[in-house]
Amino acid sequence: MDGVVEGDQGLAALRKIARHDLARLNYPAANWVPERAGPDGQRVLDVLVVGAGMCGQTVGYGLLREGIGNIRVIERETHGREGPWNTTARMPILRSPKHLTGPDLGVPSLTFRAWYEAQHGADGWERLYKILRLDWLAYLLWVRETVGLKVENGVGLLKVEAVGDLLHATLSTGETVHARKVVLANGRDGSGGFRFPSFPSFDPEDPKRQGRVFHTLQEIDFTKLVGKRIGVLGVLATAIDNACTALEAGAAEAVCFARRPHLPQVNKSKGVSFSGFQRGQGMLDDDWRWKIYTYMLAAGSPPPHESVLRGQKLPGFSFRFAEPWLDVVVEEDGVTVKTTKGTERFDTVLFGTGFDIDMGRVEEIAAFTANVKLWADVRSADEVKANAEAARYPYLGRGFELEEKVPGRTPGLGNIHLFNWGSILSHGALAGDIPGLFVGATRLVQALSHDLFTADIERHVQNMHAVEDPELAPTDYFVPREKRAGTL
Ligand SMILES: Cc1cc2nc3c(=O)[nH]c(=O)nc-3n(C[C@H](O)[C@H](O)[C@H](O)COP(=O)(O)OP(=O)(O)OC[C@H]3O[C@@H](n4cnc5c(N)ncnc54)[C@H](O)[C@@H]3O)c2cc1C
Repeated sequence: MDGVVEGDQGLAALRKIARHDLARLNYPAANWVPERAGPDGQRVLDVLVVGAGMCGQTVGYGLLREGIGNIRVIERETHGREGPWNTTARMPILRSPKHLTGPDLGVPSLTFRAWYEAQHGADGWERLYKILRLDWLAYLLWVRETVGLKVENGVGLLKVEAVGDLLHATLSTGETVHARKVVLANGRDGSGGFRFPSFPSFDPEDPKRQGRVFHTLQEIDFTKLVGKRIGVLGVLATAIDNACTALEAGAAEAVCFARRPHLPQVNKSKGVSFSGFQRGQGMLDDDWRWKIYTYMLAAGSPPPHESVLRGQKLPGFSFRFAEPWLDVVVEEDGVTVKTTKGTERFDTVLFGTGFDIDMGRVEEIAAFTANVKLWADVRSADEVKANAEAARYPYLGRGFELEEKVPGRTPGLGNIHLFNWGSILSHGALAGDIPGLFVGATRLVQALSHDLFTADIERHVQNMHAVEDPELAPTDYFVPREKRAGTL
């Protein structure tokens, strides 16, 4: 953009440029995957993408670029509520630097920078410190619309089962579909769910906790916390941002507790955020991959300094380090927390304890989960004991596909591709954070393309034999097929 038009007009102009750029790339590529009918006589989907957050929509767009057009992208939330951005994320800005690319898949006019400059000009871009959270959501939705990716909002995947060599998916609409591939792009919690540490008197399933004890990544009505004293378990990004949101909404006090003696200081994932690491990590042998991610998981990641500054400025905000919780007791009128240093009484408690990796909790694929191969299955008992969290991660194949613990027991499992945080042990952070998205989505799309092609190789070769393209028809040297020598 030359900065001539800005604001909504600028965005509309950018959309035209981006669509022209896509057309120059022959997007969407012609579909090349042969049609196939399922047991119900309906056309089988080539890929069912589950989840239309940042990862799912980028995979959908990548598939269209690849000429794999017989896909559906389903999203259980309504339009604009995909991912955490305007629901459970509570930081004003993204942690990531503003220049990151990913959802654009390499098309300059689809980058966040292009989107921002179209509205605020080049100067606006220079002035921008970091990306506003809701701008990121608006940008993602703009990319989706611009690339013409159809997303079916309000449609959830309930379960997947194997039928012959196909996957049979039951959707929340009551519809069932057959698909050759299912991509689970179902978010950070998509390989487990909220993590609640275990305490003798606390049961996350107990209905008594409603309104008293929350996970920081669930929806919370902060207006109900005015004047309240809040205990937060955790000192990382979401814990702090939740504490701050509560205080800004009028809570009296928010105390963030940690087992550790101080905040983690170094964001190790920043140091490995370059294409060599992103492309190479998944190609390493098991020893290296295990070594890298057990270290990463143990190192943790500091909260962004912006979040800490946000908290520091708020009266009522505090940290308590080296004070782990021993028990949480939910009562009628409050919550009692026993720590290693004493007993605290709060009106409300927030668990800022992140997500768990536990494939057994992924209900959509319950038919398969007992046989999902985990890192625990490929490491020694001592290593598993020493790194219990890392050991729970699924052991994925080169195309993010789940693998069988016992080969042959659950046919179809290998056609489920896990494109969420659960893939980090196997591939690095390619299916979650923005920096790895381009490499991850590209790798997954290539793997799907490869699998779909090789599974149909006989048909492709038959088609190759049958193809008739009378290149020389306009010349004097055209020979009709029946008069040609050999196979030419
Ligand atoms: C609070 C927060 C802040 C973050 N900040 C940053 C940051 O600054 N920089 C960065 O790089 N990363 C950040 N991340 C990490 C990452 O970028 C986000 O988690 C991002 O949303 C990941 O995209 P996703 O597509 O994997 O998941 P999501 O955006 O969560 O999308 C998954 C989608 O799948 C849908 N879904 C789930 N199950 C089903 C089902 N069965 N059927 C249909 N739909 C389903 C969900 O509704 C959801 O919309 C942040 C994460 C959080 C939680």
